[in-house]
This record gives sequence, structure tokens and C-alpha cells, in this order.
Amino acid sequence: MSQSAERRWCFADQLGPHFLDSDDQPVLLIEARAVFGRRRFHRLKAHLVLSALRHRAAELGDQAIFLQTRTYREALDKVPGRVSVCQPTSRVADNFVRSLPSVDVLPARGFATDRETFERWTQSQRGLLLEQFYRDARRRFDLLMDGKEPTGNRWNFDAENREPPPKSGRLDVVGPWLPDEDEIDEQVRADLDKWERDGDVSFVGRDGPREFAVTRAESQSALEHFIENRLTQFGPTEDAMLAGDRWMSHSGLSAPMNLGLLDPLECAYAAEDAYRKGNAPLASVEGYVRQLIGWRDYIWHTYWHHGDEYRNRNALAAHQPLPQWFTDLDADALEARCLKDVLAQVRDHGWVHHIPRLMVLSNYALQRGWQPAAVTDWFHRSFVDGYDWVMVGNVVGMSQHADGGLIATKPYASGGAYINRMSDYCGDCRYKPTRRVGDDGCPFTGGYWTFLARNHDRLKGNHRMSQPLAGLNRLTNLDDVIAQQQELGDGPP
Ligand SMILES: Cc1cc2nc3c(=O)[nH]c(=O)nc-3n(C[C@H](O)[C@H](O)[C@H](O)COP(=O)(O)OP(=O)(O)OC[C@H]3O[C@@H](n4cnc5c(N)ncnc54)[C@H](O)[C@@H]3O)c2cc1C
Ligand code: SF4
Repeated sequence: MSQSAERRWCFADQLGPHFLDSDDQPVLLIEARAVFGRRRFHRLKAHLVLSALRHRAAELGDQAIFLQTRTYREALDKVPGRVSVCQPTSRVADNFVRSLPSVDVLPARGFATDRETFERWTQSQRGLLLEQFYRDARRRFDLLMDGKEPTGNRWNFDAENREPPPKSGRLDVVGPWLPDEDEIDEQVRADLDKWERDGDVSFVGRDGPREFAVTRAESQSALEHFIENRLTQFGPTEDAMLAGDRWMSHSGLSAPMNLGLLDPLECAYAAEDAYRKGNAPLASVEGYVRQLIGWRDYIWHTYWHHGDEYRNRNALAAHQPLPQWFTDLDADALEARCLKDVLAQVRDHGWVHHIPRLMVLSNYALQRGWQPAAVTDWFHRSFVDGYDWVMVGNVVGMSQHADGGLIATKPYASGGAYINRMSDYCGDCRYKPTRRVGDDGCPFTGGYWTFLARNHDRLKGNHRMSQPLAGLNRLTNLDDVIAQQQELGDGPP
């Protein structure tokens, strides 16, 4: 049997046409319920994954064997003959499929750069800097290039892409693409309700209307809508937050992309096309392309490159467990306006854009010294686009600095001043971003100095930290700051 005629087992994050070798290739889809029993996932994430899988099964009809079982093994026992599978996206699933004698494992799909090319690139580098990887990818894919030079003669438009939010409190941009639910969603909702009632599974977060694409056609509509209506605004405000606008001009495409419904390169070329036709400015297009063929691929490859032990790194010796108000997404317990609003969005939608993830949720975890592995698990479970491969680098590396600086050269720790500059949260908050101590002392500001004091010796060799550490040494009331933060501890701020 030729490999293209061999039945292709597609995991629930491999649902796009690019995971098949031909339009009529036989397919195997498995809905293994035990996956949801192992951890407390967000209810909306369970909905999204099941809805996507069932929509794909319905679309393929007789072309697919669709099995709903407790475990993958139970399902595989019912499938005659050999099957092939593209490399799964988690180490656990990868080890599992490679242990099965009747399964052929093919290289991964759904990312721009392949594994061999990444590994070859690492050999030519002294450090694995995102910026170098990204430039290499731009050349290889001829994306935003004019001959050998980057379009506009610049690789990087970060300076233009870091504007604070508009004072009006709203972005002047067309709203995001949103789906209509159908009878498959209805059935998924009924099943999840039943499983929960029967005590088979337990979820975090609230149920609500589905907000992300789950089919190829929906994903294409969502991509087109973003490119036509929202890409222009993407760059300047990509780092800004507004209490009244949780989407800003972000694409909302990570969920369908991580389900395998969109290929990052098709999104990047669509963005370039908009620029070439004069429909979107270069800075926004560059900012978006950087996220896709730069950051997304870089995080994927570092997941495999740094080995399994990477997930347990803890360079800042952070050992505090996550408090219950955080794991239960209990936003109502909080007064700190930024954290309260962002946690409520996670509870109600399972999604916030990258700055609330990095500079609010992760920043708070970093300051409090929460265990990086527990923070990784929390993000994985609580976000609709969370998968093992994307969590480890983003949390252990980028946001918790637990890898000692392999991914981010300095910790993403900041006080209330950053949040105040990049959002409209502080004005109506009961705390003041400029206050370190006292009744209105901002927990992010006090937490920032306490974090620096706790990690002074670990960070003093990092030249990018010399300025903040010099600032710490000049603080006159550091003892009071630390005492207040110790009193707050892990209680809800
Ligand atoms: C602590 C932390 C946790 C994160 N967890 C996830 C996650 O679970 N799943 C996820 O896809 N992204 C994650 N990210 C990256 C980023 O926050 C999300 O991809 C983005 O917010 C998704 O919304 P969007 O599609 O509207 O993004 P946009 O801003 O519109 O588009 C950027 C696109 O680039 C990709 N991208 C950008 N940065 C990253 C990155 N660092 N890692 C992977 N992809 C990236 C995504 O596919 C995204 O769709 C995380 C970042 C941080 C700091
Ligand atoms: S004052 Fe502090 S807690 Fe309040 S919104 Fe600003 S940064 Fe957040």
C-alpha cells in the first residue's frame, strides 16, 4: 500500500487539509474522553476541541472512521491495518505513537520551519536568538523581502508597534469575526453537561457562546476578515490593553491555527499580500509575520530542541504553589483592577491577548514566586489555544525566566508603571501604580521590588538587569515594601 493510501490518523489538533496527502485519503479520527478526565480544562476549551473534531468527522463522512472511546488504545484496537500519523505536538503523544507497531510516524506539519532546518540553524548560532531565527525564516520563505534586503530596509518595526492605547478607551476598528453555533455545538454542549453531571469530568471557567473557528471554512473566513478589516491596526496597539476592548486588533486565530485548521505560512503570505496591494501598512504586517514565522515556530522548535527536562527548570527557585483564587479563576475575589479584569476574561472566554498573558497574569506569578511547572499547567488548562508544546517555552522560558535566560534575556517583570502606560486600568483602580506601600500601594509595584530583592543575587550577573538592580539599591523603604508584600502573601490582591 502506498503511503498516501494508508489511513491517516489525525489528532484533534491536526484537522486541516494539509495533514492529508490527498483529498481522498482515508482518515482516522478518535475522540478519547479520558483526555478530559486527566486535568481540569476550561469548559470552553473542551467545547472547542470536541466541536472541531466532530465537525471534521461530519465533513469527511465515509472517508473517515470516527471513534468515540474512552482511550486512544481502545479505539486503535478496532482499526484494521496500518495507519500513519504526522508527528503529534506533545512529547507524551509522540512517545505513545512511536511505541505502536502498526503506526508510521511522519514529520510534523502545521509549522513553517521544519525540524531539520531548525537544528541546522542552531548549529550556526552561538545563542538561539529569536531575532536571528526570524530573519533566517524571512529569507528562506522570501517573506517581506526585496531581493536580499528586507522590505522597507528594516527587519524590525517594534518601535512603531508599541503604542499605548487610545485615550478614548476604544480602538476604532471593525470587531472580530465570530461564528454562529450549529447543531454539532449543541450536541457537544449537551454531552459536556452530561459528563460533568455524571462526575466523569470537571471543568474550570464558564460556558458561553463559541468564539473561535472550528472548521476550515470558518477559519478561512476568520483569516480573511482579519486581513481585510483589522490587520492595519494590528501593529501600533499590539501591546496595549483596554478594559472595554478585550480583542483590540488581535486576530483571534491562534485557536484554529493550533487545531491545525490554518497554516501559519498561508496567514503570513496573506498579510504580505495585503501590504503589496497597499491595503495594510508595513509595520503592522511585519509585526504579524514576526509572530507567526518567528515566535510561533521558535516556541515550537525550542520545545523539542531543549529536551524533556526543560519543562522542570526553575532557575529562580520559585516554589510557591498557586493560590486557589487563581486556579479557580475567582476574579470576584480581587480588587486589583487589571488582574481582576484579565482573570475574569480567562474565566468567561478562555482567551486574552499576549500582553495580559505576559504582563499581568505571568508577571504576577513571577513576582510571587509561583512554581513555573504549576503556572505552565494552569495556562495549558485554562486557555482555548493552550497545548503542551506552546506552554513550555512561553511560560518556563519567556514569562517565568525559569530557564535562566535561554529564551528571554531578562525576566519580564514590571511594576504598575508599565501597566499604567499600556492600559487604562489604573485610573479606576483602588490602588495607585506609583505607590509601593500603604493602603493604596499597588501590588504589582510592591511585588516588582520584592521580586528584585528576592532574586538580587541570581540576577546581578545579567547586564540587562543592572539598571533595575541599581534602582533597588536606591529604594529607601525597601523593608516596608517587602513587609507589606509578605503580609499580602498569596491572598487575593
Ligand atoms: C504566558 C504566555 C502563554 C501563552 N500561551 C499561548 C497558548 O497557549 N497558545 C498560543 O497559541 N499562544 C500562546 N501565547 C502566545 C500569544 O499570547 C497567543 O498566541 C496570542 O495571544 C493568541 O491570540 P491571537 O491569535 O489573537 O494573536 P495575534 O496577536 O493576533 O497573532 C499572533 C499569532 O502569532 C502566534 N504567536 C505569537 N506569539 C506566539 C508565541 N509566543 N507562541 C506561540 N504562538 C505565538 C499565534 O499563532 C497568534 O495567532 C502565550 C504567550 C504567553 C506570554
Ligand atoms: S494600580 Fe496596580 S493593581 Fe491597579 S490596575 Fe494599576 S497596575 Fe493593576
